[in-house]
Amino acid sequence: MKKYFIYTYGCQMNVHETEKLAGILQDRGLQLASQVEDADVVIFNTCCIRESAEQKILGNIGAIKPIKKKKKDLIVAVCGCMAQQKDMAGNLRKKFPFIDIVFGANNIEFFGDYLDTYLNQKKFLNKVIEDEQYIENEQGISMVRDNPFYAYVNIMYGCNNFCTYCIVPYVRGREKSRNPEEIYKEVKTLLEMGYKVITLLGQNVNSYGLDGNTNGVNFAKLLDTIANFDGDFELRFMTSHPKDISDEVIEVMAKNEKISKTLHLPVQSGSNRVLKAMNRNYTREHYLNTIEKIRKAMPNITLSTDIIVGFPGETDEEYQETVDLIKTVRYHNAFIFMYSKRKGTIAEKMDNQIPINIKRERIHNLLKIQHEISEELFHEMIGTTQRALIDFGNKNEGYIAKAQCGKVIKLITDKQIKLGSFVNVEIIDYKKGNLIGRIK
Ligand code: SF4
Repeated sequence: MKKYFIYTYGCQMNVHETEKLAGILQDRGLQLASQVEDADVVIFNTCCIRESAEQKILGNIGAIKPIKKKKKDLIVAVCGCMAQQKDMAGNLRKKFPFIDIVFGANNIEFFGDYLDTYLNQKKFLNKVIEDEQYIENEQGISMVRDNPFYAYVNIMYGCNNFCTYCIVPYVRGREKSRNPEEIYKEVKTLLEMGYKVITLLGQNVNSYGLDGNTNGVNFAKLLDTIANFDGDFELRFMTSHPKDISDEVIEVMAKNEKISKTLHLPVQSGSNRVLKAMNRNYTREHYLNTIEKIRKAMPNITLSTDIIVGFPGETDEEYQETVDLIKTVRYHNAFIFMYSKRKGTIAEKMDNQIPINIKRERIHNLLKIQHEISEELFHEMIGTTQRALIDFGNKNEGYIAKAQCGKVIKLITDKQIKLGSFVNVEIIDYKKGNLIGRIK
């Protein structure tokens, strides 16, 4: 039996797209190889959000050369956001003549056809669609989800926001919402299959329906409908844009027990001037006001964020505004990055780039501050009761549960427990980055 191996880089959207690629290959009778050397088809599902990610991918593609030399029939394909960039397919092929197929981020579901064409013609295939038209269509694609409890469901594709540092709108195109009926059907099927945590995915989920493709169903309505499906499950979503999260969404989150009380709300900077230069379209005040509304509606919510330090022109004072913001909000978790130039974006051409030593100093300092805040907040969870999903372990070695915020809870129990059960856990300690809990 032929085998495949897929390298996946980047965000949850890519992780989910790899599940679709695996589904297409398994439908054709291929099975997953345990190591790349055993594969007959190798796919690189790429990301281009940061230059360092691209360098790593290029290094990994290069490492395939000796394998292809030994195994002439090996098919090497590159897809995803990096491949979608203008002229990238040709450049990749020039650099790595052993690549056989390149396709973009929006036509994953046709990979089976590309494979057939390649096998017939044995000629390099460039299937990147460079215009912004979306052709992604999930109908009828099998997916191989490797976790039995957690499932991603795309609700929309693309982004209209054009944050000045971000390449996503150029490679993923404009926002396009999926038909709500298709989404409901997919979620119901997943629940019947036993999935317990459903995560709705989109670059900007709060814009769901604004393109007029959903018969008037907006994101709040979509969430509310799914949260009222039968079954014991948890509903999550990502990513939200602070300018778009509505009072209606906050209200729906607060009133539905099945919607996870955890929210990732990327702030990026605490400075209004930097936010404007990033084209984020909200102010620090608007953001803090939104956080206040969210906390008022859901006092126990856990919050996380993304932050970029060293954006072009960021002064010490502006950086301090970000420090002040994270101390004010007190996130359970923050993904903090140094700004790095992304070719093809507006920020790449800004002339007041920050020297690397200053960026390093800022990120180091901010990570330290955030770590202290996270540690305090996780210690504060001692004595609380958290609803969690037991997703790993056995009676002899112990069980692991995941709190809604994603934090690992080590369970103290001598009972046999069914994996995939939701339990109420009393947090009794916090040690070495893990919560310790007892089932109530
Ligand atoms: S909202 Fe901004 S950061 Fe997020 S994908 Fe769109 S352009 Fe990129």
